Amino acid sequence: MRVAIDGPSGAGKSTIAKIVARELGYLYLDTGAMYRAVTLAALRRGLSFDGDGSSIATLAENLRIDLAPAGPNSSGPTVMVDGEPVTDQIRSPEVGRHVSLTAAIPGVRRALVRRQREIAGQGGAVLDGRDIGTAVLPEAEVKVFLTASLDERARRRLKEQLGRGFGVTFDEVRNELAERDRIDTSRQMDPLRQADDAVLLDSTGMTIEEVAAEVMKLCRQAAGRLERAEAPRAGTPETAGYPATPERKEGL
Ligand code: C5P
Repeated sequence: MRVAIDGPSGAGKSTIAKIVARELGYLYLDTGAMYRAVTLAALRRGLSFDGDGSSIATLAENLRIDLAPAGPNSSGPTVMVDGEPVTDQIRSPEVGRHVSLTAAIPGVRRALVRRQREIAGQGGAVLDGRDIGTAVLPEAEVKVFLTASLDERARRRLKEQLGRGFGVTFDEVRNELAERDRIDTSRQMDPLRQADDAVLLDSTGMTIEEVAAEVMKLCRQAAGRLERAEAPRAGTPETAGYPATPERKEGL
């Protein structure tokens, strides 16, 4: 199965996606990290974020981005750009202020969406981002649109930023998130929006465990649907059309 988790910044997508991927034994792909990696490389090269963005699109086509799987003690995958680990650098406030501009460049999106589809391959993957359910994997079996109030998202992002050693205030983080939401929802190509067939989950006031349990429930339901869809082909005439295992409580 493919699991698509979309939503605005700070809604908890990557935390939940990591847990779900671990529980299912699936690959986890943080697509935001790819847009951040291109942004960091563009800032380092002094490329212009104004105009048509063609130099940043060319960079996105050619940049080597590696996402090494998370180790048992790391909080997430190691992100490498041109062989250099940049896991913390891509989370800097400066990258945060520019990343939505990078992500609004159509050539950047085309280059990264192509890579994301290749990585997601034939299934067994959890992807989080803004356009997974609408553009990257519109055929995903599980689609979640995860959101939370702006204040709650800003509180979570502030904690994360301070934990990484970046000196920022609540208001700065809140303003950055609001500005990013504005650019992400209003850009021309693949703007942030809930796919018609995505399940809306508002995580305001919910614990990580509660949200993860909800998403796992959706995964089990989707697995059951897939199994039932395949059952008639596998079954004898007597059993065809009936679920092979009507209730499936654990595992997939
Ligand atoms: O998820 P994260 O906050 O790291 O994403 C950073 C930015 O990358 C988003 O604000 C958005 O502009 C862009 N992005 C995107 N499409 C994705 C993932 C991220 O446009 N699939």
